Amino acid sequence: MKRTKKELKRTIVALAKKHGTPLFLISKGLLLEQVEKFRSLLPGVKPYYAVKANSHPYILKCLAEHGTGFDVASIQEIKMVFDLGVTADRMIFANTVKRPEALKFAAQHGVRLMTFDSEYELHKIAKYAPGSKVLIRIKVPNVGSIVELSLKFGAEPADAIPFLIKAYQLKLKPAGVSFHVGSQSTNIENYLASLEMASIIFNDAKLKQLPLEILDIGGGFPIRYFDHDKEFFAPMAVYIRKEIKRLFSPDVAVIAEPGRAIVGPSCLLVMQVVGKSIRGNKHWYYLDDGVYGSLSGIIYDHAKYQYRTFRRGITQITTLAGPTCDSLDIISVSEDMPELEIGDLLYCENIGAYSWTTATNFNGIPPAEVIPIP
Ligand SMILES: *Cc1c(COP(=O)(O)O)cnc(C)c1O
Repeated sequence: MKRTKKELKRTIVALAKKHGTPLFLISKGLLLEQVEKFRSLLPGVKPYYAVKANSHPYILKCLAEHGTGFDVASIQEIKMVFDLGVTADRMIFANTVKRPEALKFAAQHGVRLMTFDSEYELHKIAKYAPGSKVLIRIKVPNVGSIVELSLKFGAEPADAIPFLIKAYQLKLKPAGVSFHVGSQSTNIENYLASLEMASIIFNDAKLKQLPLEILDIGGGFPIRYFDHDKEFFAPMAVYIRKEIKRLFSPDVAVIAEPGRAIVGPSCLLVMQVVGKSIRGNKHWYYLDDGVYGSLSGIIYDHAKYQYRTFRRGITQITTLAGPTCDSLDIISVSEDMPELEIGDLLYCENIGAYSWTTATNFNGIPPAEVIPIP
């Protein structure tokens, strides 16, 4: 739900008063808006939400009711999705390295679609989840992406055909190609190059009598974090759509695994100034959440957020730090902010992805309380 600045302030102040801080607000309206945005920008591409981006049960429930699929990576994630009544055919097991127990569990419960990027994994799948439908994940350019997944995942494209043939020989169902351009990929070239590479594999596979039916374009779709960011995704989607149409036959099923683009804009973190000091001629403010909590994306996701306050006035370069006793727990050393006082509220939007899920209990400080809002 779009809110004016005034409405947002009223909501934040009221909730902070009622529940205390820090608070992690999940807006169902914004979440479903992102799903609709994805569907309208890439019509015909079926989204399988990447559960790892934020596995809060409320988020999964809203998405399940809204009909998305799910990209799951572990027994626990599969169970969480099953618990919402979602059927196995709405899941893709997209972790390329799966525990044998997890493969057995997937097979027992009917999760048939999965990715792989090595021959060892194929043998494991054939042994523990025989007959599965497999997608080869290829290594693709991740140029300029904030999180480079090709550092760890993806087979050489030249190995794709031999691997798919191997899958066939192992009595698996070689079904298609998947890739991930890296997370928060603002560089359209990554998608264009990947689609081209995938289409070459589709054509070769056809010549080898192994017709493929599923193209999985992964995640990575970027969101806006700052007021000065432009809209990245919409203009990229135009090219992605065009290239899919140009390179693939209309009977290829195209799926995607968006995480950040679905959940990122739907959550907001409310914090409070709990300490203040002047160090080296600079104001330092200590907040009640930090990099060991909902701002853990600063470490794990290389994330940068826009911090907002309700105070007005002359600004100065300040440092924001978290509440723990570790010096790693510094949020930012270069925020341009008016002078704040202890008890002031700060908030940060677009913090839904790779944030709450990676929060810890370090120093005995629990993760922010989660509050669903409309
Ligand atoms: C993390 C991940 C995603 C989601 O990536 P986003 O950049 O958040 O869209 C999708 N697929 C796989 C296999 C992943 O590991």
